[in-house]
Amino acid sequence: MELGLLSWIVLTGVALPGNTSPMPDQYTRGVDWLSRYGYLPPPDPHTGKLQTKEGIERAIRVMQRFGGIRETGVLDSETLKLMSTPRCSLPDIVGSEDMLRRRRRRKRYSLTGLQWEKTDLTWSVHSYPSESLSSSLNPSTVDSLLAHAFKAWSDVSPLHFQRLQSDSEGDILVSFTRSLHDDGYPFDGRGGTLAHAFFPSRAQIAGDTHFDDDEIWSYGGEGSSTDLFTVAVHEFGHALGLSHSSSDPSIMKPYYQGPVGDIANYRLPQDDRQAIQQLYGVKEGRPSPPVGDPDLPHLPSPAPPRPTPHADPSFLDRCEGGFDAVANIRGEVFFFKGVYFWRTKRDGSLISLHPALIKNFWIGLPPGTNKIDAVYERKSDSCIIFFIGSQYWVFKDTVAMEGYPRPLADWGLQTGGGKPVDRVDAAFIWAHNGKLYLFSGGKFWRFDDSQAGKQVPKQPEAGYPRNSTLWKGVPAHPDDIISWGEGDAYFFKNNLFWVLKRGGMDQDNVTPKSIAVDWLQCPAPAPTRSPAAPKPRDCSCALNRSSAFPKSSVLLLLAVVLISSVLTRK
Ligand code: ZN
Ligand code: ZN
Repeated sequence: MELGLLSWIVLTGVALPGNTSPMPDQYTRGVDWLSRYGYLPPPDPHTGKLQTKEGIERAIRVMQRFGGIRETGVLDSETLKLMSTPRCSLPDIVGSEDMLRRRRRRKRYSLTGLQWEKTDLTWSVHSYPSESLSSSLNPSTVDSLLAHAFKAWSDVSPLHFQRLQSDSEGDILVSFTRSLHDDGYPFDGRGGTLAHAFFPSRAQIAGDTHFDDDEIWSYGGEGSSTDLFTVAVHEFGHALGLSHSSSDPSIMKPYYQGPVGDIANYRLPQDDRQAIQQLYGVKEGRPSPPVGDPDLPHLPSPAPPRPTPHADPSFLDRCEGGFDAVANIRGEVFFFKGVYFWRTKRDGSLISLHPALIKNFWIGLPPGTNKIDAVYERKSDSCIIFFIGSQYWVFKDTVAMEGYPRPLADWGLQTGGGKPVDRVDAAFIWAHNGKLYLFSGGKFWRFDDSQAGKQVPKQPEAGYPRNSTLWKGVPAHPDDIISWGEGDAYFFKNNLFWVLKRGGMDQDNVTPKSIAVDWLQCPAPAPTRSPAAPKPRDCSCALNRSSAFPKSSVLLLLAVVLISSVLTRK
């Protein structure tokens, strides 16, 4: 029962400043908010220890990262706005400060470590929303919405939920209640906190789910009302043992995200499916009752309008591929395209489906920058190098260092004919040998970047450039390359990517996969067009390359691999 809730001070309605220096009152409330939701340890009443400035800044950063907004470490207007967004009362971070620091590397979804020891669960409704002029929900609609919310979880797990007609029995008791309601976690009136639920345990209250009756609950979330189905799916997630997730999309994000749309066909986002299956396993046999099953109460019609994701231009951009640059930075993968970029986590979950503006995050690039050629993170000092045209920038975290840009000529890249190279196509550190590789115009150069510090290696290693076709089975003119997974090399081109496993010299058949589907949570195209099928142009390129190497040379290559280290060959 680690709710750790204190009395909530409503932030809704606070006037937000346009600059980054909040008023002291906001600062106090911001710190209170951070403690409430687990980003700061609660003030110690015995020692009276104060929060440190650094601790607060770190907590703000974690909160910003968790919320998918720009990490500034200060209470800027975007942060205050997120803090004033209606949300669940449960904390986002459960555990020690140390856990908070490690969090970055953990799975996005989060489990409480608590779960039911059975899969057949019962529920009942203890009380319904109060009748009011502004609320349109009658008890049978509430029943139906709650049943559909349970079904979202039972669709993807072996869980089975049975409604009891009694109003005070069952594992999960649902109630609509306001202010103080005998569990120590009072609600706060309209806005602010919306609902909470108790994690599984042997306690009587375990699983119980409370909705703030001062909210205007609705089916469809029209106007200023709150969509009951969306919040119920979230709270039932807690009642089953899930904590908050920073993933996007995830129904377990702590903030109210608006109605999910067509509830009859609602499917949990991948992050939430993985989380519930981690606890209870995957669904086997028994298919979910279809929509309209007599077990499920009938929903009023017409159904609320469903937002069409395809109408969103950012969605189209993301799913079309054709990225200018791709980089593995601090364990996240960044996809750059035009003036935008997207971020994904190690587990493949997008930080945000909406693209972020490069200029708002990476500070110090010239105004009007609309194409980045290549990006990589230097291992020696974790600086991040951007290549744009005939210049490059070195970033410390998200700010460009003084003295940049510098001319690309610093790198000593020359084609075979001694011509200087005027742009870089791709840059990556091959985890296999720790060397830096730069690609341009079908050639590549290798660098020892390990001692670089703040300097750039003046020259590539001897014997370069070499022909990119030495990397077999992948495009010779990639958009960009990263090291990922078990030190594998990922080549990106148009809307496809190829994986060269570890050493990767002997893989003549590298099947490309869809960047959109595998990395950016886009729907798989219709079955007639397999996402794995390369475009004809790429196909012929691959064929041309293989035909340039007769069978005997493949065997020869294999022999070379056996005799010498792969490292010497690339
Ligand atoms: Zn919650
Ligand atoms: Zn409660």
